[in-house]
Amino acid sequence: MDLNQQWNKVLDILQNEVTAVTFDLWVEPLKPIQYCDDEFLMVANSVTAKNQANNPNLFQKIQNAVRKVFNNYTILKIIDNEEARSIKNKEEELTKEIPQQSSYFSNENKVESKFNSKYTFDNFIVGKSNQVVQAAVYTVACYPSEKINPLFIYGGVGLGKTHLLHAAGNYLVEHRPELNVLYVTCETFTNDYVDSLRLAKDKSNTAFRDKYRNVDVLMIDDIQFISNKPGIQEEFFHTFNDLYQNNKQIIIASDRAPKEMSALEERLRSRFSSGLIQDIQSPDYGTRVAILRKKASQEGYLVDDDVINYIAEFYDTNVREMEGILSKVCFYSSLIGKSSASMEDAKEALKDIDYTSNNTITADKIINTVCEYFKVSKDDIIGKKKNKEIVEPRQLCVYLINEMINIPLAAIGEIFGGRDHTTIMHARDKISTQIKVNPHIKTIVQDIKSQISKH
Ligand code: ADP
Ligand code: MG
Repeated sequence: MDLNQQWNKVLDILQNEVTAVTFDLWVEPLKPIQYCDDEFLMVANSVTAKNQANNPNLFQKIQNAVRKVFNNYTILKIIDNEEARSIKNKEEELTKEIPQQSSYFSNENKVESKFNSKYTFDNFIVGKSNQVVQAAVYTVACYPSEKINPLFIYGGVGLGKTHLLHAAGNYLVEHRPELNVLYVTCETFTNDYVDSLRLAKDKSNTAFRDKYRNVDVLMIDDIQFISNKPGIQEEFFHTFNDLYQNNKQIIIASDRAPKEMSALEERLRSRFSSGLIQDIQSPDYGTRVAILRKKASQEGYLVDDDVINYIAEFYDTNVREMEGILSKVCFYSSLIGKSSASMEDAKEALKDIDYTSNNTITADKIINTVCEYFKVSKDDIIGKKKNKEIVEPRQLCVYLINEMINIPLAAIGEIFGGRDHTTIMHARDKISTQIKVNPHIKTIVQDIKSQISKH
């Protein structure tokens, strides 16, 4: 039985020992990398994940499970990628000693990219912001080297570029197993190149070329990190040309457009523009809600709709952060023993996030100013009264809070005695329509705004 199979047994045990969220977040992503001399070495996918897994409570459980499977006294070590990399320097000795046991340090000459099985086209929510990019990547996956080559996709952090590259990889592995598909980050490309220079002293520089020039599809992620060292760009340029001339598919992802990459040589920039350069935008609210729903069902989280809406309103520029918040809320609710995450849990889990930190205008200040202006009491404004003299100022408060402070509608609802976010949305929309058609309201809003800013 190989290391991975044994590790799967450990996972089976742990699944019953820890909560689903702990399992998903901290246990399952651990990768066993080495087992020798009674020492069992695992790598966590981030420093946070390493710290969580080394937390005494969880660590004890993992260790007990490992010992059950390995049947002898086993010392467990959980490290992060950085530490794994320094061990990698001893790679040659290690792999000689324990052949086959380490898939993590596998021989890189063989082109074999592992794609994250969660990053598929099916799991990618398509909306206005990303439909063109998604279609482009999908086309490339279906017709490599035939339709769009090279494909250069770019957009802000956490918007799904890596997800799409992996989706293409997964698709190709499934539908075109005969093709050599290589996914690397710019960092790996650079490291491989630097290594090849180091090795070139004793052998000829073929490992690097074998790896990069024998592929049918090359994907390079985060190309913005390409260093401005001429050697790397030179090598990349040759790799690119070589593949391109041999009609091989190239897909590149970056956080900015080629024209904004100052370190990029002109000849590379013009190579990129010979194919399609396509940007990916931040998802709109509906798409964000759909992404969160998908994520929740994928991870087996049970979450109230309110919570999904609340998070989707707040996080509008980075899907990764938004998903992180969802995990945090679910993790919190599982910690306190709940089966499903509610608004209360969300607020408790997120209470250290200060929505108004860079803003001297607070909801309180807005409400007080409106109360003063209309000579009504704050209790009435946030209370339940339905007479016109109160309802109008209340709607104005909602409108102004929404406009002047970046807080979710659901959070505004909370300020107004727990009204739900659709009521809040209605109030806001009513005033914004009135402003357009009624100059009197428009003047009132301007007056109040200037008073708020003066305070
Ligand atoms: P980038 O590479 O652009 O920085 P990633 O591809 O790493 O971003 O995406 C960050 C996270 O957001 C991933 O977990 C990814 O699955 C998720 N994500 C981003 N966009 C979408 C989408 N449209 N549908 C589903 N998940 C998405
Ligand atoms: Mg990425």
